[in-house]
Amino acid sequence: MAAKRTAKELTVLSSTHLTKNMLRLTLHGADLEKFPDNAEGAYFKFNFTSADSSKTLRRTYTISRLRRDKHEMDVDFMLHGNTASDVHGIAVDWAEQAKVGDAISISGPGPATYINQDADWFLLVGDMTALPALTANLALLPENATGYVVVEILSEEDKQPLEIPSSMQLRWVINPHAGSDDTPLVDAVEKLQWLDGQAAIWTACEFKSIKKLRQHYRQLEQVQRTHLYISSYWKKGLTSEQHKVAKRQDTSPTDLLRRLGNRLFNRRRA
Ligand SMILES: Cc1cc2nc3c(=O)[nH]c(=O)nc-3n(C[C@H](O)[C@H](O)[C@H](O)COP(=O)(O)OP(=O)(O)OC[C@H]3O[C@@H](n4cnc5c(N)ncnc54)[C@H](O)[C@@H]3O)c2cc1C
Repeated sequence: MAAKRTAKELTVLSSTHLTKNMLRLTLHGADLEKFPDNAEGAYFKFNFTSADSSKTLRRTYTISRLRRDKHEMDVDFMLHGNTASDVHGIAVDWAEQAKVGDAISISGPGPATYINQDADWFLLVGDMTALPALTANLALLPENATGYVVVEILSEEDKQPLEIPSSMQLRWVINPHAGSDDTPLVDAVEKLQWLDGQAAIWTACEFKSIKKLRQHYRQLEQVQRTHLYISSYWKKGLTSEQHKVAKRQDTSPTDLLRRLGNRLFNRRRA
């Protein structure tokens, strides 16, 4: 565990726009060789220093692709801070300005959060911040899996190729006001025709959408706790530190137990 907390130094190898609002940085460092085999989809923290150098600001991101033999990993940043109503963030500002050879410190990785694969059908829901983790989950599904994948993106130009089992249906939800207007994503999920049998659900996106989707899933009797993973990845108007506090305040004892259960489940899988 201590090794995971130890900071690792990486350097920027390349920077590419995957889509209009998604920037991929490829990072390089010898420590990546020691990351576990199944680390794609797992989270880690970037360690930034605040402008006045008084504290470390940690930002959570997902290992999108890992090439351990080459000591490389790809990290996909949903860009924000570029419209009048947006606020800049230290992570995205850094990513947008990153140049080849720039150094960055990270800690981790933590465990990936896997969808329960012991199910009759699957529902995966995510916004652009969750796309790397959602993609890693898709890769685990059996070829004959059925169900839905619902992805919220900022614009038509943010569609990216996803490898999805052929019997699953993909719905892109275009919402240029992600975080401010949760209606398009929540509506799209609520309108899905529920399939027969045991569903397994994996959902990660903005705080307000999560609250509504959690409520929706609770109303569906067929959704079992063991088959539900749901997590808020960010909250419009709050920094990562403030979001963490908001999440804690919003967690009921039942949710806390469920989260612990999920962690144990994932640890056993890791
Ligand atoms: C387990 C986990 C995995 C994650 N993986 C990824 C990932 O792979 N890729 C990714 O892009 N994000 C990912 N995120 C989300 C990311 O941690 C947050 O978006 C984070 O707040 C970005 O940090 P920042 O320094 O840019 O902004 P902060 O300093 O945290 O926030 C500054 C301002 O920006 C706003 N803001 C933050 N994120 C967004 C956004 N996406 N859109 C619009 N406004 C925003 C905040 O509300 C705030 O007003 C993940 C989060 C978690 C919990």
